Order: sequence, then C-alpha cells, then structure tokens
Amino acid sequence: EQNNNIVVDRTFKTENSKPIPKPCPEFYYAFHQYPEILEEIKKVGFEKPSPIQAQAWPVLLSGEDLIGIAQTGTGKTLAFLLPALIHIDGQLGRREDRGGPAVLVMAPTRELALQIDKEVKKYQYRGITSICIYGGGSRRDQVKVVTQGVDIVIATPGRLNDLVAAGHLDVRPVTYVVLDEADRMLDMGFEPQIRKIMYAIRPTRQTVMTSATWPPGVRRLADSYMCDPVQVYVGTLDL
Ligand code: ADP
Ligand code: MG
Repeated sequence: EQNNNIVVDRTFKTENSKPIPKPCPEFYYAFHQYPEILEEIKKVGFEKPSPIQAQAWPVLLSGEDLIGIAQTGTGKTLAFLLPALIHIDGQLGRREDRGGPAVLVMAPTRELALQIDKEVKKYQYRGITSICIYGGGSRRDQVKVVTQGVDIVIATPGRLNDLVAAGHLDVRPVTYVVLDEADRMLDMGFEPQIRKIMYAIRPTRQTVMTSATWPPGVRRLADSYMCDPVQVYVGTLDL
C-alpha cells in the first residue's frame, strides 16, 4: 500500500449524485453472503482486498457503474469478476430463457481474455459457464458454444463483433458489461467495434471500465456508456 494513494469520486459529478459506498477492508464485508467465494479466496491465500477491490466491490455489488484506473497488477480482474459472478447468481433462475450471456467482458488481447476466463473457471461458482472468444480461435467452436448458451462471454472486440453481426451471438440479454483495459482497446483501434457492440446492449445494464490511463478517448467512451460512474484512481497516474 506504500504507493497506493487512492482517489475516489463520481466522474461526472452533479449535485444529485448519491454518496459513494464505503470501501470494504476485509473480504468478509463484501462476500459474507457468498461462502463459496470466501472459501476460494482463502484457498488462494490472499490476505485482504487490494485498494481497488476494496473500493470496487461495494460499488459494484450495489449495482452502480465503476471506472477503475490503476496500473497493471493491482487486482482489477477480481474487482469486476466477483461481482459479475454474484450478478449472474441472482439470475440463475432465468438462465434457460435468457437467450444469451448475462455478462460480457471485452479485453484488448487474446492473452488477457484467456487470463480472465481462467479466473472465472477457477471459481467454479454455482455452475456458471464462460467462453473466451478471440480472433484466431476456431470460429466454429466458438459459435457452437455461444449458441448452446453461456453465462459469461469474454472476448476481444473484433471477433465478438463478427459473431454479433452474423447473428451467432445475441448480446441483448447482457446486463453486466466490462470494458477491460479500455485505453489499450482504443489504442488497438477497437473503438468502432466496441461502439457497435455497446449499441446492441440494453442501456439498463451495469457497466465497468478499467484503464491504466485516462486520456480523452477513454473519457468519451465512459461518457457514452456509463451512468453516473464511481471513479477509483489508484497510484500515480499519467493523466
Ligand atoms: P490487473 O488486472 O490490475 O493488472 P490482476 O487482476 O491481473 O491485475 O491481478 C494481478 C495479480 O494479483 C494476480 O496474480 C492476482 O491473482 C493477484 N491478486 C488479485 N487480488 C489480490 C489480493 N487481494 N491479494 C493478493 N493478490 C491478489
Ligand atoms: Mg487486468
């Protein structure tokens, strides 16, 4: 925590903005209703939430949008993933007639997408299923699993947009979206695909964005798709 100065605020603050939920100092505060999650955290041996997790979990569990700005290695994956599992858990009864994933995570590269998918599968939470979709992967296999129905889709924006445009994947049932490493996705030229995909998702979704930096392009993306987001900065920032 030596270097973890943390700043928390509403990105587009107005006089009507609600107070920001208090951070959770221990895993127990966020997940006491979810013993399987606490058990898994215990198994991996983490001592306490990282600063971004401590702030993100209460915000996301209360259904609000969040922007997490922090360097690599600050624990952003679990910051958005554990609330995603709980989000799906609340809808398991409706899984059969949902017709598409409840959670969509967009990530800039195949490696990052696979890493996130691995994390989901490690938790094996209440039978929640996930699929990783990326350019270069077997399109046929991906289409097959997608059409069979999964709870979480983790994808790079290019291939994801192909599947959505071809009608293989319906993103309308998505109610929780993550734009992971938004700055890198924009640097890689994925903005048009991201915008097409976001356009197809209901505006009533919950949206999470992570980024290492906060340039104007990322800010515009947040402005387009997020609803009164809580913004968490961790560490020294290159603004
Ligand atoms: P980021 O997405 O911010 O780059 P990751 O989510 O990939 O960071 O996490 C970086 C590393 O920190 C991973 O190895 C992860 O398992 C570990 N980690 C995550 N949360 C904690 C925690 N609360 N305590 C200790 N290590 C953690
Ligand atoms: Mg990450």
